Amino acid sequence: MSDAVLSIGPQPGHVCFIGAGPGAADLITLRGAKALANATVVLFDALTDPGFQALAPKALWVDVGKRGFCNSTAQAHIDALLVHYGRQGECVARLKGGDPSVFGRLEEEIEALAEAGLSYEVIPGITAALAAAAATGRPLTRRGRGRSVALSTAMTREGAFTAGQRADTEVFYMAGRQLAALSRRLLDAGWAADTPVMVVSRAGCADQSQSDHTVATLAAAVVLHAGRPSVVTVGVGASPMAASTARTVQGSEFEGHHAKACASA
Ligand code: SAH
Repeated sequence: MSDAVLSIGPQPGHVCFIGAGPGAADLITLRGAKALANATVVLFDALTDPGFQALAPKALWVDVGKRGFCNSTAQAHIDALLVHYGRQGECVARLKGGDPSVFGRLEEEIEALAEAGLSYEVIPGITAALAAAAATGRPLTRRGRGRSVALSTAMTREGAFTAGQRADTEVFYMAGRQLAALSRRLLDAGWAADTPVMVVSRAGCADQSQSDHTVATLAAAVVLHAGRPSVVTVGVGASPMAASTARTVQGSEFEGHHAKACASA
């Protein structure tokens, strides 16, 4: 992948990877929304918010969600479609959930474009770990005791399930159905049984849901978040703030605080 071309702005024959954010259309970035508006073809995975399509109403929307396919076939198909539309001179948007660089198989899609000599750019998005921290008002880092954050998956490529203790706060992706196994692996890796664990599903969406556990009791979360994309935050970043500040700030409240702060500045 020596000479993949990074360039800015939608152009014919150019692919723009866009982070869609965690699910709600209004959590895409402004830059991402602008790039989407310029696209002629949009390749997207499972998107539940119809608001995205309103951002590019004239584009051809192609669903490349992996459901029902074997994973590797599906990925090869996506790679081929990117190259196909790129070579046809379309302005291609590849809309990916969260941030394209986090557990998004971006490297494979970039490789395919590089081999075809097509140019690309990557527009970041809000990854699920950040949406979960925001949704619950629980900072991922804490001064003095939470100095490192790891974004992890317990699933290996071969289908094995592993976990370590890599940071003060570790956020696990793609573990929703295997929380009992994750609990055991975390204990084996040296996490104390009473370490706080938070599970957040559909973070950042109107129907987001959150539950609190410990490393030892994590398995109970499976039924609470069944069938919903969820992240598991383990360690310092999972612990709640003091009760008085635990409520998450709503947009309008924030605007109120902001206005006050500006007025008194
Ligand atoms: N690129 C994405 C991650 C893709 S892997 C990102 O940056 O967020 C898919 C996994 O992401 C899911 O299994 C789940 O663990 C997590 N995920 C995606 N959207 C989520 C959401 N709204 N809330 C909680 N977890 C989510």
